[in-house]
Amino acid sequence: MRIFRDAAKLQKWCMQQKRMGKRMALVPTMGYLHEGHLSLIETAKKNRADEIVVSVFVNPVQFGPNEDYATYPRNEKSDLAKCRKAGASAVFLPTPEALYAPDHSVYVNEERLSTGLCGARRPGHFRGVCTVVAKLFNLAQPDFAVFGQKDFQQAAVINRMVRDINFPVEIVVAPIVREESGLAKSSRNTYLSDAEKASALAIFASLRETAGAVAEKGSVPWKSQKARIVRKLEKAGLKVDYAEAVDAATLEDVKTLKPGNAVLVAAFAGRTRLIDNIIV
Ligand code: AMP
Repeated sequence: MRIFRDAAKLQKWCMQQKRMGKRMALVPTMGYLHEGHLSLIETAKKNRADEIVVSVFVNPVQFGPNEDYATYPRNEKSDLAKCRKAGASAVFLPTPEALYAPDHSVYVNEERLSTGLCGARRPGHFRGVCTVVAKLFNLAQPDFAVFGQKDFQQAAVINRMVRDINFPVEIVVAPIVREESGLAKSSRNTYLSDAEKASALAIFASLRETAGAVAEKGSVPWKSQKARIVRKLEKAGLKVDYAEAVDAATLEDVKTLKPGNAVLVAAFAGRTRLIDNIIV
């Protein structure tokens, strides 16, 4: 497994692979890898990648000033071991300085799908995400890139970026990997105390109840479902950041929840912000 810290060296190697006709996959991550990330590598293999590049980079540009950039968990040694075991061909571990010139001044802005949900609560977040993913696409030259449904809005925004500025990259979205308890795996789960972890179970439980209601009745008014979800989360001791139901393609709000719609939740367990979603 190759380890790159230098952007130009990664790009050179990836271009060589492409010239040899290799099918290249990119798996972008912020590291502190767990089974959710590793499932993306598995998905890359299933999609017949010849070479899989995993990037591990906590991208400062996508964090707000009061967010957890400085404290975001990092463990390079363990990440490298997991990537090697999972069958990655190369890992890209740049420093912020290796990726952003001191006078970096070009950003990629998606202006529609990124306005609501996490975009509304985290101003500048998707500008940072689109910018770093665009850079990684240009460096790794992937035929396809794998993202997780865990970050549902992110996958939609990236798909839109690819469509609207014509990246020759296919976007593959892999399902959410959960703990046995139902909690969606996340690097940020490491922040949670046992009590907060127990509270956090209400998130997926409430989403599953809503999915159950749609499965049973075909369609249900969102308003009453939302009230039920918010009540359940608050009762568990969580602070709801948002609970929204949207059209899975346009991310526009829906009033009546129908099969195929997405329900998304962001909630704080203590100081940790957790997100989850379900396609009903
Ligand atoms: P992150 O390191 O949290 O930025 O995530 C990197 C990639 O892994 C993103 O595409 C996420 O959607 C995906 N991912 C994170 N957690 C999970 C999970 N529990 N299941 C599936 N994919 C995930």
